[in-house]
Amino acid sequence: MIPYGCHDIDQTDIDEVVKILKSSFLTQGDTVPEFETRVAEHCGAKHAVAVNSATSALHIACLSLGVSSGDRVWTSPISFVASSNAALYCGASVDFVDIDPNTYNLSADKLRDKLEQAKQTNSLPKVVIPVHLCGQSCEMAAIHQLSEEYGFHIIEDASHAIGGKYQGMPIGGGQYSDITIFSFHPVKIITTGEGGMALTNNPVLAEKMQLFRSHGITRDPGLMKHKPHGEWYYEQIDLGFNYRLTDIQAALGVSQLKRLDKFVSKRNELANRYTDLLSELPVITPFVLSDAYSSYHLYVIRIDHEHTTTTRESVFSTLRENGIGVNIHYIPIYKQPYYQGLGFSEGYCEIAEQYYKYAITLPLYPALTEQQQDQVVEMLKTALNI
Ligand SMILES: *Cc1c(COP(=O)(O)O)cnc(C)c1O
Repeated sequence: MIPYGCHDIDQTDIDEVVKILKSSFLTQGDTVPEFETRVAEHCGAKHAVAVNSATSALHIACLSLGVSSGDRVWTSPISFVASSNAALYCGASVDFVDIDPNTYNLSADKLRDKLEQAKQTNSLPKVVIPVHLCGQSCEMAAIHQLSEEYGFHIIEDASHAIGGKYQGMPIGGGQYSDITIFSFHPVKIITTGEGGMALTNNPVLAEKMQLFRSHGITRDPGLMKHKPHGEWYYEQIDLGFNYRLTDIQAALGVSQLKRLDKFVSKRNELANRYTDLLSELPVITPFVLSDAYSSYHLYVIRIDHEHTTTTRESVFSTLRENGIGVNIHYIPIYKQPYYQGLGFSEGYCEIAEQYYKYAITLPLYPALTEQQQDQVVEMLKTALNI
């Protein structure tokens, strides 16, 4: 089976991990701060807080912005459930802004309309979480403009997008948001097994996220309520979690980060090759904004239903039955039974529904060979009866 995504681990990665296994600190050593510094430098952000998953990063990002019960958080329906679950963990309510029909990202126009309506009913969101689907940035300049007009915070869910750029600047630099989060799950661009990171230029948010990551405990006398009893003293000043990344994972991250640019350019090369090879087929290939450089976490096509009668379901099963590990990203979040229980109904976002009906993710990862890619394309032709 050619999978839809696959991590890339080489001997250097293994050696770096083994070094930590033989050292005195498997966790809470120097390698986590080193990983944070390197990612922050790579992205041009002032602060980075490493955690054990992007889900945890989203949670502490929401908490640091003060999201709590009675607040509203808006995100895209075409994302992994973690993007919206984070708000629910904080006791807030969630709502979805429909997507752009070309980029499949949260639509800045739809956002403006929804904000205008919310303003009338005094129900504006506290935070909006744009998701950079497949690795392509949302239209952040426009979304940021709206945040100033309507007064909400922005968390970029860049789980797919480390290594990508927007307006020539690396994603994660925070020009248009309060916090950006990355995922290091093995299917994403670089991996630490499980892992995530939250980047910000705001020292207050960084400090809060550091607290939430580790039980709400501080060893900084400047933050304490009482005078330290001695060298051993620490204080819990908030209710936090154990969301720490280990040094074993951070060592893998530092090593992987060195190949980030190579991974992303290989993904772009293969994506462009797909786009050429698929140009005559009844499928819609990814639309790339002129000011975005996608990290191409995913290569999503849509079946062009105006030019073929073959259904997405049939294309999907033919490919799967023939060893091509296609996938679907994503089922609109509000269709999940848990979300239906919160009152969302089928068909809530029209464009997201259209997208979901025809989308299919083709295999893409740095080690995919051109020969394997040709195999995917040939099988896709068969599946489309061409
Ligand atoms: C993978 C993913 C997450 C969650 O990442 P984890 O590191 O697995 O917690 C969140 N949002 C999006 C868009 C993702 O793709």
